[in-house]
Amino acid sequence: MADGANFIGASSMRGAVSEKPGEPLEIRELRLANLASDDVILRIQATSLCHTDLEAVDGQLDTPLPFVPGHEAAGIVEWTGSSVYRLSVGDHVALSWNPHCGHCYFCSHEQFILCEQYRANGVRSVHFDGKARVFDGKQPVHQLMYAGTFAELAVVTEDCAVRIPKNMPFHVACLIGCGVATGIGAVSNIARVSPRSSVTIIGCGAVGLSAIQGARLARAETIIAIDRDVRKLHMAKRLGATHALLVDENLIQSHAALTCGRGADYVFEAAGNERGFQTSLEIVRPGGQVVWLGKVAQQQRVSFRWGSLMGEKNIVRSSYGGSRAQEFFPSLAEKYLSGDLLLDDYVTSRISLGEVNAALDRLRKGLDIRSVIEF
Ligand SMILES: [Zn+2]
Ligand SMILES: [Zn+2]
Repeated sequence: MADGANFIGASSMRGAVSEKPGEPLEIRELRLANLASDDVILRIQATSLCHTDLEAVDGQLDTPLPFVPGHEAAGIVEWTGSSVYRLSVGDHVALSWNPHCGHCYFCSHEQFILCEQYRANGVRSVHFDGKARVFDGKQPVHQLMYAGTFAELAVVTEDCAVRIPKNMPFHVACLIGCGVATGIGAVSNIARVSPRSSVTIIGCGAVGLSAIQGARLARAETIIAIDRDVRKLHMAKRLGATHALLVDENLIQSHAALTCGRGADYVFEAAGNERGFQTSLEIVRPGGQVVWLGKVAQQQRVSFRWGSLMGEKNIVRSSYGGSRAQEFFPSLAEKYLSGDLLLDDYVTSRISLGEVNAALDRLRKGLDIRSVIEF
């Protein structure tokens, strides 16, 4: 806490606050306090709207109120606490939403997404140490996913801020830390897709499109994109899909025809609906790998035809694509800069903070891949 006294930059900022589920966000003047020695203050340059932000704003995640949404972000380090050793003022960073303690049971098994401290405080939407950093007058304001980046400044723990090359544009750098890392990580870290294999991706939003690019980078031979939206299928083909299937009543037969009647070696579900989860099991080959990336409401039940589970299938659900942010994010930035990872097409609108509510509405209607707020 004593470190807060050393912070001589701006300590107040504008941020978008959710006060009531489903209501428009309000732009407020907020202040930062209670800074700790391992804190980093970022001046947010760009932050994109992810579906999880919408779920939180609409009250589906029971996020404590009031809170600042936003977790896919990139910015410049404005201040570092006295024990921060990885970062310096002026560094460009992309944000991870998975701080981890490094010494609990799960961290010692390298399952950082299950870190006990991470899970305990994540649902409370406070800082990683369990305390608030953002205030509206005297009232604490929660930070969604240890981030709260729909604001000019964000206070995060050091391991959430990952240095990236300075020539990486912020409006695409912000995408790395959630949808892109999840989709590519699912392919490279979770399934470890092998060359010349067949890979199918259900749902072509930012996560699904990233899985498609991951499959291309892994040199899969057949990459089949499935979606209900023709425009997203066109984008999928530009980014590496070899085949595109529009969802219709013949989907499973059409898919079988493209995969020698066996089904795909790997299937990634990134649509986040019951039909998507069911389809993933119907179209993977016996002995194949299914990775579920989408999600439905916590209490929703999902049913399966028992026969679709048979055949020695491997099924895993992943939240963050096995990301180890400090190593993974810079490698993704390098792939963008070398032209191997295509991210510009994801950004379907670039807006100011004041336009956030209209952008949330477009996300509700499924109109954008990613809207990016720039400061
Ligand atoms: Zn996200
Ligand atoms: Zn831990």
